[in-house]
Amino acid sequence: METAKSAQLFAAAKQYIPGGVNSPVRACRSVGCDPVFIERAKGVHIWDVDGNEYLDFVCSWGPMILGHANPLILKAITEAAAQGTSFGASTPREIELASMVVDAVPSVEKVRFVNSGTEATMSAIRLARGYTGKKVVVKFDGCYHGHADSFLVKAGSGLITLGIPGSPGVPEDIVKNTVSIPYNNPEVLEKTLRDPALDIACVIIEPVAGNMGCVPPAEGFLALLRQLTSELGIVLIFDEVITGFRLAYGGAQQYFGITPDLTCLGKIIGGGLPVGAYGGKAEIMNCIAPDGPVYQAGTLSGNPLAMAAGIATLKQLQQDNFYDELNSKSAEFAATLSEIAERTGIPVTLNRVGSLMTGFFTSEPVTDFDSAMLADTKRYACHYQQMLASGINVAPSQFEVMFVSAAHSAKDLGKAAEMTEWSFKKMSAK
Ligand code: PMP
Repeated sequence: METAKSAQLFAAAKQYIPGGVNSPVRACRSVGCDPVFIERAKGVHIWDVDGNEYLDFVCSWGPMILGHANPLILKAITEAAAQGTSFGASTPREIELASMVVDAVPSVEKVRFVNSGTEATMSAIRLARGYTGKKVVVKFDGCYHGHADSFLVKAGSGLITLGIPGSPGVPEDIVKNTVSIPYNNPEVLEKTLRDPALDIACVIIEPVAGNMGCVPPAEGFLALLRQLTSELGIVLIFDEVITGFRLAYGGAQQYFGITPDLTCLGKIIGGGLPVGAYGGKAEIMNCIAPDGPVYQAGTLSGNPLAMAAGIATLKQLQQDNFYDELNSKSAEFAATLSEIAERTGIPVTLNRVGSLMTGFFTSEPVTDFDSAMLADTKRYACHYQQMLASGINVAPSQFEVMFVSAAHSAKDLGKAAEMTEWSFKKMSAK
């Protein structure tokens, strides 16, 4: 594979941008190679600057559920752009998208748009603290909720990939108010939430963990979490930045039938433009300025291009059977991958919920952060490199998910399976 132009650009990028990237996992360090630079994308394909074509399963880390450069989204963005790109004032599209989110997501009665998932989660915990007058945030080991100070405690995503448990620059005074506990452990959950010494404002969870690889909630875990938080007057926040409009039109809360108090959204609701949102019960949301005292603002929030892209995306997700089709083709694909692993003798634990999946290179079940850590990351690096060389773009880390989009055809999934088999066979021969 010729990557001379990418190599040249990466060298130039490193002169001006820390690590040459604007988000750490993009540097591909844990998979032992330099990143390719992308020139364009269409449907399920992306092309790098050297002209290599890849079948894409990163899908911009989730937003591209309809594939890249979706014509209706492009049209909506272009039409919006022709009217001006930002006004810092209210526009009709904000109401349209807000009402679509309220109609779709069971917990959301009111919603505030921001510019990223990080802003959504950061604002949601401020709101929960302001509403309850309490301090402590409970989160789960290996979950990632963006890079705000309070969340950089045993966090997932790039922090696992790079092996850093927290971050310098985050004052001890802040993280002492974050308690991180194991995912899927009902005993520790109950003991923590009932601890009278903890002044708990909220619990925030990825209802399906996606940032330590795909880890589904154990049977009954979300229900227990809902029951305990309701009983104890703790605000329950679902971080649905990945799962929102992904597992079902109403997100994981619809998929599992568990309604949180607040919900964070991002990725899909911006159709590939920078958007986040947080919403929930009106009683809580009314505490936000200007109606209430909890402050949160944004120059570009509710940006007309982003709203247009979000509306055009959500409209297409309303098609009959959209999620049934996406989820069932993903199930079939996952079953094929598991079968390939078995046939080629490569130990893989394949976790999947809806169109999110991770093949962990371990024979043990992966149910939490500790078990995810048993995966063979060297083997993943080898697999990643082989897949990329054969034209398949998967996440450059073992601890991320593979995203299947509506644009992936049976033929595309067949090609990815074929290349996976080739890669596994090559590894088993070593
Ligand atoms: N929450 C979750 C569950 C995420 O997966 C992410 C990003 N991958 C974030 C929050 C942060 O979103 P952003 O990168 O848009 O700030």
